[in-house]
Amino acid sequence: MNNQDLLQQLANDPSCADDYDPNAMSVTQARQYIQQFLSPVQDTETMAIKQTLGRMLAAPVVSGINVPGHNNSAMDGFAFRHAEANQPLTLAGTAFAGNPFTGVLPVGGCVKIMTGAVIPPGVDTVVMQEHTHSEGELVSLLKIPAFGANIRLTGEDIAVGQTVLARGHQIQPADMGLLASLGIAEVQVYRRLKVAFFSTGDELVSVGQPLQAGQIYDSNRYSLWGMLQALGVDAHDLGNVADDPQALENTLLEAANTHDVVISSGGVSVGEADFMKQLLAKHGQVLFWKINMKPGRPLAYGKLGHSHYFGLPGNPVSTMVTFYQFVQAALKSLMGASAVDQPSFKVECVSAIRKAPGRTEFQRGILFKQGQHWQVKTTGEQGSGMLSSMSQANCFIVLDEATGALAAGAMVEVQPFSGAC
Ligand code: AMP
Ligand code: MG
Repeated sequence: MNNQDLLQQLANDPSCADDYDPNAMSVTQARQYIQQFLSPVQDTETMAIKQTLGRMLAAPVVSGINVPGHNNSAMDGFAFRHAEANQPLTLAGTAFAGNPFTGVLPVGGCVKIMTGAVIPPGVDTVVMQEHTHSEGELVSLLKIPAFGANIRLTGEDIAVGQTVLARGHQIQPADMGLLASLGIAEVQVYRRLKVAFFSTGDELVSVGQPLQAGQIYDSNRYSLWGMLQALGVDAHDLGNVADDPQALENTLLEAANTHDVVISSGGVSVGEADFMKQLLAKHGQVLFWKINMKPGRPLAYGKLGHSHYFGLPGNPVSTMVTFYQFVQAALKSLMGASAVDQPSFKVECVSAIRKAPGRTEFQRGILFKQGQHWQVKTTGEQGSGMLSSMSQANCFIVLDEATGALAAGAMVEVQPFSGAC
């Protein structure tokens, strides 16, 4: 069965697959389900390397040159024939980086050589200046280095024809320098992903307008905007849509027609899901899940036409947690990335942790340095509406389903925010 058919079947009849229970999905299972429906955007573009930071390579990069391009000296010193090292050597000239020694080296001769300078023909070893003694034109070696010492060989870093960056590699600053070092001015990358997002909720008001009784400011569009900007996608803010079927239908269809991905926040919790479910069942294949996690229990994922749809829970922390735990990796896959895993590691937690076994929790943590060691503490209260906890935090403390309450001093898994995107 192809992926589209599987999605259709799961959307129509959730009991069709053995290990699939939309009301009890683990975080890992949900990630796996989403991952199988993703493939990179088709279009690619050729871009100057300065424009490519954060883009994914659409083709491997192969070196057309050797690096280094010639045998060169790793030291300031003297280049000589190792077999003649026991006698004082006659200075025959000097080799500078970018200005080689062009003479013919006589028997018993040596060349003063600078770091990076081309090794003259016939010479096999370089001795560092500090291990020599010069008197007039005669140079004696106080310490004889091993044959071939202090010479960087042609192609020892990168050889002609070697693949230096694989397809799907995300361009980092070092890669931009590396590409330049190979004389490569342009590379082929996947085009930017077009992502539309909107909020849902009658209670929401946009910043800049006064609040009436019972209304709240729409914050999700701003945190989503920030997370999407950090990923380097082409993000479009479609505003706040009222809990009105017609308005939602119009926005969803328009967004799906013109974007690779549509993200909504709110409207997928138990009370509101039926309404969204009907709408999405009419136009696409969308799965509604209750995930064994906290915060961020309800989540919808599926296809609306050619577009991928993510329905995130509306609580501001839940929106961010579900984005980081599910949407970010999915977007990276669609962007063409070969690696989407977020780094995590174990560290001692100085706070006691309140938790009941059963769900994976993403508590907000602060990594800090205590003396020589990094430790983590929680941000305190962990309510899913408390966006200040995300703002104070610099990491998630990831507590798996089996974990219960922990005393202070336990080792916990953390996912740092920086480096996470
Ligand atoms: P929902 O998922 O629509 O049931 O929303 C859950 C909670 O999150 C409710 O208290 C909403 O008022 C709140 N909420 C939903 N969307 C937003 C938003 N865009 N900004 C701030 N709070 C929101
Ligand atoms: Mg709502």
